[in-house]
Amino acid sequence: MKITIAKNSGFCVGVKKAVDTAFNIGKEGVYILGELIHNESVLEKIATLGVKTIESIDELESGTLIIRSHGVSKDILDKLSEKKNVEVINCTCPFVQKIHKIVYEHYLKDYLIVIVGKAEHPEVIGINGWCNNSAIILDSEENIPDIIFSAEKVCVVAQTTYSVEKFNKILKKIKINNVKTVDVFKTICYTTMERQAEAYKLSSKCDAMVVIGGNSSSNTKKLYEICKQNCKATYCVTEPNGLDYKKLKSYNSVGIVCGASTPYEQAMEVFLTMEEKEVNTMEQAVALLDEKQNLKKGQKISVVISQANDDGLKVYFDGKTDITLLKEELACEEFDKNAYNIGDEIEVIVMATKPHLTLSQKQILVLQKEEELVKELNNDVIINVQIKGSNKGGLVGKYECFDVFVPAREIKIGFVSDLTKYTGKTLRVKPLKVEYTPRKKEIVASQRVILEAEKAQRDAERLEKEEAFFSSIALNDVVTGTVARFASFGAFVVVNGFDCLAHISDLSWVNVKNPSEVLELGKSYDFVVLKIDKENKKVSIGYKQLQPKPWELVSEKYAVGDVVTGKVVRIVDFGAFVEVEKGIDGLVHVSQISHEFLENPASKLKVGDEVNAKIIAIIPEKEKMNLSIKALIEAPQKEVKETEEKPKKEKKAKKDSDEELHSWTESASSEVSIADLLNK
Ligand code: SF4
Repeated sequence: MKITIAKNSGFCVGVKKAVDTAFNIGKEGVYILGELIHNESVLEKIATLGVKTIESIDELESGTLIIRSHGVSKDILDKLSEKKNVEVINCTCPFVQKIHKIVYEHYLKDYLIVIVGKAEHPEVIGINGWCNNSAIILDSEENIPDIIFSAEKVCVVAQTTYSVEKFNKILKKIKINNVKTVDVFKTICYTTMERQAEAYKLSSKCDAMVVIGGNSSSNTKKLYEICKQNCKATYCVTEPNGLDYKKLKSYNSVGIVCGASTPYEQAMEVFLTMEEKEVNTMEQAVALLDEKQNLKKGQKISVVISQANDDGLKVYFDGKTDITLLKEELACEEFDKNAYNIGDEIEVIVMATKPHLTLSQKQILVLQKEEELVKELNNDVIINVQIKGSNKGGLVGKYECFDVFVPAREIKIGFVSDLTKYTGKTLRVKPLKVEYTPRKKEIVASQRVILEAEKAQRDAERLEKEEAFFSSIALNDVVTGTVARFASFGAFVVVNGFDCLAHISDLSWVNVKNPSEVLELGKSYDFVVLKIDKENKKVSIGYKQLQPKPWELVSEKYAVGDVVTGKVVRIVDFGAFVEVEKGIDGLVHVSQISHEFLENPASKLKVGDEVNAKIIAIIPEKEKMNLSIKALIEAPQKEVKETEEKPKKEKKAKKDSDEELHSWTESASSEVSIADLLNK
């Protein structure tokens, strides 16, 4: 059997306040003006405290007087204010007080006041007392007095517990009769509307309905009428013990609704009797019902503020009153109890259902933020996650309220052998899966997908650049490039974003061992395109080809007769070669080394010697230069006597070297005859 207690059961906010007040201050000398609520058992309990119910204030001279939630007329309040020995505790429901204010203000502005409700109901009597009992009271759309239609201005209010349906019918009748000005205030209390709407729904789907409430309670009567329309097996009782439980248990589903003056405990009593459950406290009973009604941790619910005190709020939900909402759980920077209105509805979240219902409003904001975050996370975002550690499967970290897991295969492109090295590092990751429930907040993420996407992007850009580059260059083009890095075999030069190679042999006309002898890192130079290999994405460029050869400048830099200094770089049979500058070697013929006869140049010179020499011939087109060391040395005095053999040897050696020299300078067209110089 399924038993459902209507959510809007138990005392309404207004009744609760009055009943609590009576129980809190109840003793001899405390009085209530009129029956506090329409519930016999509650009234009996209050009476046992010594509290007396009086029907008129005339009989009261001193003591404390509680004004019930229905409220009283202005006239009564004025009279009470004159009774100096009577302390008045006004428990008029805030919703009823609001009607008093509307009626009084409109009455002062000469409006005709129309109250839709039961003329004999204490609340209606009280309201009428705020317009000097001048109101027209309507309980039907039939026989509406003509005075309403002829009035210039009409103000319509409703008894708080009146039927919404009936109110609308009466209102329609007033409006279609062309009243000039009608100010309508739909003052039916929200708890009444909710109770009626819920009773309608519940009775539509239950096999039997139980309505609990006082015989004289108008809202209980309306609930009974509504339920009876939908469900023939509707039982209305003033107390739970008036029910035929045996019969009730024969139904598959039973709904329970209560009037506003019925304590929630009575609905629970029916529920527990039907369930055959025994509980020790009301809290246990509520927890049992919550469990049955599937109230879950994390569920959002709307509650109504019934009290604001220094500790926070008391709220009303599903007929349960006095649920504490601590100020720490309210969504405000600084708690001010005066900022909260009794009767206002606020949304809260269930933090716990056991041992008692715990609510939070602040957590709603936290949840809203988290829900927004979840939307973002599901929107292909990249997040930065600090890695806290690793487990067998991958890396673990935290992002906002989420635990993050990066599987090992999702860390990078390729295999990761050591996961521990990522601890403490921040990874850019993309969520692959977001799990968000009250119990689990987890993201499975990947860095690999980002890296792959970036690589694909880079590859595409590179291809595009390459295409553009190759279509922009041709052999022998002169291009400007920036030296990016050196290798032993040359320099890599960036030309229009593309890496080209300038081989070391193409850097200089002279031998260089390192590209840095010619080029500087980061500097830009002009190069000539030597080779284009589009298929293999290689381009060779040369630097030296744009530079003059050393011999091309030799005529500008040197002239016959100049004295130069250089190092002996190699020695041959017929002389020694001296490096005048990089790329220009001059020959010092053996006969030009010394004034004395030398059979072998090495007898006077060795590689590395630094010498001064005079240029005796330059032949640029043959890249040849003749030098003489001895021309810079004063000739010694000739010996008078010569041996017979020495001239022969000298003659032969001279002949040989002359021949070698001739072959080296065969095409010489020097301004100075070499032979002449040699003979000097
Ligand atoms: S039914 Fe509404 S108006 Fe009447 S006492 Fe209860 S809360 Fe106040």
